[in-house]
Parts: sequence; C-alpha cells; structure tokens
Amino acid sequence: MAELEQQVARFCGRRYAVGVSSGTDALFLGLKALNIGPGDEVITTSLSWIATANAIMMAGATPVFADIDGTLNIDPDSVTTLVSERTKAILPVHYTGRIADMGRLGEIARQYNLMLVEDAAQAFGAERDGVRAGAFGDLACFSMNSMKIFASCGEAGMVLTDDAEVHERLLALRYNGTINKEVCIEPGLNARMHTLQAAILLERLKRVSAIIRRRREIAAAYNERLQGVVGVPAENAGEYHVYYSYTIQADRRDELKEYLAAHGIETKIWHPILMPEQPAYREQPRARIVNARRLVQKILCLPSHEKMSDGEVEFVIDRVRTFYRR
Ligand SMILES: *Cc1c(COP(=O)(O)O)cnc(C)c1O
Repeated sequence: MAELEQQVARFCGRRYAVGVSSGTDALFLGLKALNIGPGDEVITTSLSWIATANAIMMAGATPVFADIDGTLNIDPDSVTTLVSERTKAILPVHYTGRIADMGRLGEIARQYNLMLVEDAAQAFGAERDGVRAGAFGDLACFSMNSMKIFASCGEAGMVLTDDAEVHERLLALRYNGTINKEVCIEPGLNARMHTLQAAILLERLKRVSAIIRRRREIAAAYNERLQGVVGVPAENAGEYHVYYSYTIQADRRDELKEYLAAHGIETKIWHPILMPEQPAYREQPRARIVNARRLVQKILCLPSHEKMSDGEVEFVIDRVRTFYRR
C-alpha cells in the first residue's frame, strides 16, 4: 500500500496519497479531513456521477449546484454567482477525463478564501498546462474502480494532498478514526483500500500511460472524422484529455442512439439525470442550470476503449456519418 501511495503521489506531483476503499469514500473522507460539514456549502457541478453530491451530503454539508459550459465541466461564471457567506469549498469534477478550468476556479477560490477540491475520479493522467489531475486543489480524489482508466479489479480510491496535517487525519479517518489501531481520536469508517487491489494497481500503473495514449488515438480519429457532424470534445491548447468517456453532443441524440444500437453499436448516456434533478436532491438549492439542462439532452458516449481496433473505430464513425446523411 505504502509503495502504491508513493508512486501515485509522485505520478500526480503531490506529497501524499492515501489509499481508500472507493472514490466515494475518497470524497467523503477528504471533505471530513478539510473540516467541511454541517452549515457549510460546497459549490459543485450539475453533471456528474451522483457520488460527488452524495459525498457532500454525507459529510453533512450542502451541495450548491452550478451550471456547466460546452466542455461539460463546471462553468466558473456560474460558480461566482453562487458564492455565499457559508461557502467553504468549490468541488469541480474533471468530467469525461477533461480537466476543469482550474485557473479560473483557483482565482475564485483565492478571491473568496475557499478551498478547492478536485473530483478527479475520471481523469487519472489528464493534464492542463503541464499540471496533472490531482495536483490542482487543496485536495484531490480519485476512483480506481474497475471501470476507470487506472482500474483495480474491484473498488478502490485515493485522496491526494500536500498538507501533512490533512494527510495524518486521512490516515486516521480511513480506519475508524484511530491513530495506532487502538486509540480513536474521532469517529471514522473502515475505508481502507484492499491490499489485493493495491497490488493490482501497482502493476497496472506501469501500463496506464500506454492505455491513455491509445484512448487519445481513438479520440483523435473520432474528432477528425466527426467534427462538423456532431459536437466533438476537441482539445483546446494546453489540454491533455484522457477520454474516460468519449462524449459527443448530438442533435436527435435518442434517434442516433437507437440507430447505432440497431447496427450493433452500444452507446451510453452518462449521466442522464443531472444531480440536482435526482429525487434525493430536489430540495437542495441550485443555480439556473440552463446549459446543463440543454446539454444533458445531447450527450452520448461512443465506444472508446483501448482494446478497440482501428477497424471498429472506423465502423462507428461510418455509422454516425451515415445516420446524419440520411
Ligand atoms: C466513479 C466516480 C466517483 C465514485 O467512485 P467510486 O470508486 O465508484 O466510489 C465519483 N465521482 C466521479 C465523477 C466518478 O466518475
């Protein structure tokens, strides 16, 4: 475990990494370690896996949902309008494996004296202006569940920080709040990463850069041939997107999805329900999430996996192009 923690910290450019049982626990314990709890507001995005909002709620704080922009990431302009007396942190998600606008979010955090926490669950290895995911915030959380790019064979997660005190606190929190397995200094959970998963991750870390390169190759082929046909996640200068999902923005999305399915191509809508629109979150405050409401009707993930052949990628491209030509 210590070996994996050291290697991941080094890979991401951070001092400490703490292995935990899942990405959800990474977020929950991370927020606890930063003293975020009852009475505090955390501004987060509207479009993510619900674990992001759940971690805020389970820590006892209130999620405040911001709008997104065309990158599908949190819109810094929307964040600015939501800062209140009670705001304690901004929690951007690097959605689809593309890093949020950490430059502007960092400015907002400094201006209002807020903490910045990255949900980097989908973005292991992603970069922006030469800085890796996990190295931007006061604290960053990863998931290594079996679906992610840097994947274990089950459930796993990690919390990264440069702060020695926060690191100590995380070590206690992940094992029932104990400091020597006997003395409990605060209530915690048993949220340790399984040693077996740590061993698997240590081995897989050697291959993660090659996996990312292949995913980027597939995405480059999609970007080139689908540009102008659908909205594609083309990179801006300084971005290094890892394409956890290859998400297009498509007109007649549902029809396209059906057409592709009829031709043997599986696609996914990630995530069809915005977090603030989940039944459990209807009572929570939210911004005017106009873009999120519009974009959630258009997003579709095309098959994008390092094991796809060039021929399979071409097949998907041809089908998408044919759909819009008809
Ligand atoms: C996968 C994921 C999580 C949760 O990770 P688990 O390991 O499944 O608990 C949190 N946030 C985002 C954005 C994710 O994609």
